Amino acid sequence: MSYKNPLPNYINGEWCISQATEFLNVVNPATAEVLTQVPLSPKSDVDAATQAAAEAFKSWRRVPPTDRIQYLFKLKFLLEDHIDELSRTITLECGKTYGESKAEWQRAIENVEVACGIPMLMQGYNLEDVARGIDEMMIRQPVGVTAIIAPFNFPGMIPFWFMPYAIACGNTCIIKPSEKVPLTLQKVFELLEKTGLPKGVVNLVNGAKEVVDAILEHPTIRAISFVGSSPVAQYVYSKGAAHGKRMQCQGGAKNPIIVLPDADMEMTTRIAADSAFGCAGQRCLAASVAVTVGEARHTFTDAIASAAQARVVGYGLDDGVQMGPVITSQSKARIEGLIQKGADEGAEVLVDGRNPKISGYEQGNFIRPTILQNVDPNSEIARTEIFGPVLGLMHLETIEDAIALVNSGQWGNMACLFTSSGAAARQFRYEAEAGNIGINIGVAAPMAFFPFSGWKESFYGDLHGQGRDAVEFFTQTKVVVERWPKNWSRQF
Ligand code: NAD
Repeated sequence: MSYKNPLPNYINGEWCISQATEFLNVVNPATAEVLTQVPLSPKSDVDAATQAAAEAFKSWRRVPPTDRIQYLFKLKFLLEDHIDELSRTITLECGKTYGESKAEWQRAIENVEVACGIPMLMQGYNLEDVARGIDEMMIRQPVGVTAIIAPFNFPGMIPFWFMPYAIACGNTCIIKPSEKVPLTLQKVFELLEKTGLPKGVVNLVNGAKEVVDAILEHPTIRAISFVGSSPVAQYVYSKGAAHGKRMQCQGGAKNPIIVLPDADMEMTTRIAADSAFGCAGQRCLAASVAVTVGEARHTFTDAIASAAQARVVGYGLDDGVQMGPVITSQSKARIEGLIQKGADEGAEVLVDGRNPKISGYEQGNFIRPTILQNVDPNSEIARTEIFGPVLGLMHLETIEDAIALVNSGQWGNMACLFTSSGAAARQFRYEAEAGNIGINIGVAAPMAFFPFSGWKESFYGDLHGQGRDAVEFFTQTKVVVERWPKNWSRQF
């Protein structure tokens, strides 16, 4: 695949050269090959995109919802027709395996499908005769120009937690991909262009902090969806809210899974390994800590160590590969430093995946699955988001202690329990402080028709992405009270 160099932005229905004077290399994390360059667009590019989106909003909001969703139906079929190329693009720039990339598109497409239900989902409600001859109704209207700021780890799926709902509700939209993985949205925008969407309804601005700051400060942008690390989520939320915008900001995570002795160990191990090491651990729903309770300590530890060692690591486009590299060489160095930190804090490195040699890909950012045993719950490694293929093991004697440990964490993105006990499952579901709960599930990723919940420092805002939450986020309610004079309403 070849790409324009530098990559263009897409504003007002045109591919255009950014005003940027600075550029970054886009690098294949498995081969270190420079694929192209991405512009660090300045504020003037955001201004142009916002102006186009504001102009387009005037007529787009008047297009009937039934007509607006026809573009989404076209998009769904275009995404399905191009899923191979789209998946290869994700693997090329992001490193995950081809199968993982394809699964990511499946999740993106599901959001398009749900947003096609907007004629039902966007409805308000009404009541006649709230007083004699007075009717009242609530209607939902679009908010206007919206913006989406995405992280590197799901370059395809994450913009789709928001964009299909935003435009189906009659808003217009500006998307900023992560500067590390800008190729995927180039492909998506080629397809969006083919749907025939009116100019300015969707716009693409490449870049980094300068683009984000311009979005946060722009008086015309009304609502912002952000996904990324917690410190940046907190910054984006505070600054956007201070500028009077509606904000939804998803942050980082440190997800615990609890394994009870009565769990099906074969299934649990397989699922836990997929959760911890899938996407090289670069998932906000990756298991990062496994807490064994009672006898599970012995059965689970050996089995997960074998599963970690057996995982096939390599280039995600090669057959049979189960885990790709991490995103950058800096990320690899940071993760390997954290593994060392864990060892220095007293954990035992049960499976050490540092500095592996992957034949043919010596320049890639590879780390093999790593397991740290006897992690101290108060250590830094127990509290830091590693965002790599590293699982820490802890041991406790009761489920109450395990739930207390889960609830003591600063994050609340996901918590999972493995058990065959209905009573334990209900206790966990009821008491665990996290927005996404898994019972015998390792990656409790909500389907598109449920909100992607997140609690505590994993989420700043109120309404989440996906489903009904997204519809509420991208609409503002208007209440209309109407008086109907006696002679119009046959009042007696
Ligand atoms: P990141 O916070 O570094 O970047 C996210 C976005 O913010 C990017 O578009 C980036 O250009 C921009 N950005 C980075 N630093 C900025 C700054 N100082 N000011 C303004 N904008 C800035 O995150 P990442 O490394 O791309 O993604 C990984 C993180 O995202 C992890 O912490 C992961 O847990 C989190 N994540 C969370 C979810 C969720 O649903 N909660 C989903 C996916 C990823």
